[in-house]
Amino acid sequence: MLVVEDDRQIVRTLRTSLQARGYEVLAANDGTTALGVLRSDGVDLVILDLGLPDLDGLEVLTRLRTFAAQPVIVLTVRDSQSDKVAALDRGADDYVIKPFDMEELLARMRATLRRFAPDDARPKLRRFGHVEIDLEKKLVTRNGVKVHLTPTEYQLLVAFVTHPGKLLTQRWLLSRIWGPDYQEETNVRVHVGHLRRKLEEDPSNPRLILTEPGLGYRWAEDA
Ligand code: CA
Repeated sequence: MLVVEDDRQIVRTLRTSLQARGYEVLAANDGTTALGVLRSDGVDLVILDLGLPDLDGLEVLTRLRTFAAQPVIVLTVRDSQSDKVAALDRGADDYVIKPFDMEELLARMRATLRRFAPDDARPKLRRFGHVEIDLEKKLVTRNGVKVHLTPTEYQLLVAFVTHPGKLLTQRWLLSRIWGPDYQEETNVRVHVGHLRRKLEEDPSNPRLILTEPGLGYRWAEDA
């Protein structure tokens, strides 16, 4: 993995902890170096600081997304909602705020890498409590009874269940389902409401599709 960070103390800490757990760690202390490493090396995960000496981390994220699909976890002191949304909209996979807890970072890393496992290595049948989704047969059941979903609702559900635990912004969901130019964010809320009514035991207290206030939604990983 690649750690993009200009704080040498943090790089040292991360390197020690990650190597002790068997991860191979490369480090870049500015954005330009990071982009160069990503162009030439096979890296499976990027941990990206936003406050870098040359390019802003968000700019690094935008540029790397033009050629790299590896998961990116942002690790930053910037804790405002607008910073989080900006990073997630630009393709970050998760967001961890400094000072960080190493165990939490490791858990997020494992979850992120799991999501990026090759698709055919993952079961086509996903079970979440009383709900079962067969991605091959495109069949959704609740307590064993078939649930009728509109094509849009099904696409939205697939976006959720193929990214368990990931914070998905409204804009990400919009562009994934309606295309990159679609702007009507209220639509996501409406369809999420429909999905909740059809799938949740108690739609007013959802356990499957969780709301992240001001940011978006997260499919509960261990529902
Ligand atoms: Ca920094």
